[in-house]
Amino acid sequence: MAQIRNRTILITGASSGIGEATARELAPGGANLFLGARRTDRLSALAEELGERAGWCALDVTDAASFDAFVDAAEERFGRIDALVNNAGVMPLSPLVSIKRDEWKRMIDVNIHGVLNGIASVLPRFTAQHDGHVINVASIAAHLVVPTAAVYCGTKHAVRAITEGLRLEHDEIRATLISPGVVATELGHDISDPALAADLIEWRRKSLTPDAIARAVRFALEQPAGVDINEVIVRPTAAGM
Ligand code: NDP
Repeated sequence: MAQIRNRTILITGASSGIGEATARELAPGGANLFLGARRTDRLSALAEELGERAGWCALDVTDAASFDAFVDAAEERFGRIDALVNNAGVMPLSPLVSIKRDEWKRMIDVNIHGVLNGIASVLPRFTAQHDGHVINVASIAAHLVVPTAAVYCGTKHAVRAITEGLRLEHDEIRATLISPGVVATELGHDISDPALAADLIEWRRKSLTPDAIARAVRFALEQPAGVDINEVIVRPTAAGM
């Protein structure tokens, strides 16, 4: 894991699931980790467990000022930023006919604006240092559309397009899209439709554990500067989705 030693990697949504697993996966390789999310009790416990190379800061990815402060705090702590893992996301599924405008807005705010806020906070630094890596955690929902997930899929299709645009516009900055299939995490805990919440339990019967996605993130990070892993899809062997 020589390629990540002493590199500073920021992870959003590090308070649970894939973000937390990514921090655990990267820590033994000697990376400096800076963790962000809203549940700071979880961040501080994780950082304490990972040791002195892990820092944390409260982060609401929907708030551009909060993201700027998060990136500033990471730079102050470690002196430089090498990579951002835009992982935070929400998935309150519902059929369009339910007209859950608040949930649509929350998905768009977190899943799209959250990613854009992250890019905006690191891009000036990455262009100035002629180096940097943005890893966006999308979903298989970036590649297909299913009923009840129209808005969620829309947000993840947008993340895929934004990642490709970032890649095309910058020769010195790596852009990676990681698209997980079904993973056993807290995602979807906020589904307000009881029938869909029950369906989620059924889908999760064949699921990956979050460390499977964390290993894909590490694989992308470990490549030499001239090699950009553009896109990775990771699904459970035993499931269609
Ligand atoms: P979790 O619910 O376990 O983690 C989501 C993370 O996002 C939490 O740490 C949460 O932290 C954070 N988050 C949510 N809203 C905000 C916000 N406004 N500001 C900052 N952080 C926020 O789910 P996963 O680990 O599964 O999700 C991680 C990513 O993986 C998401 O982008 C998701 O769409 C994607 N994904 C997951 C799949 C799965 O099956 N689990 C499949 C495909 C993609 P906090 O609440 O503390 O702020």
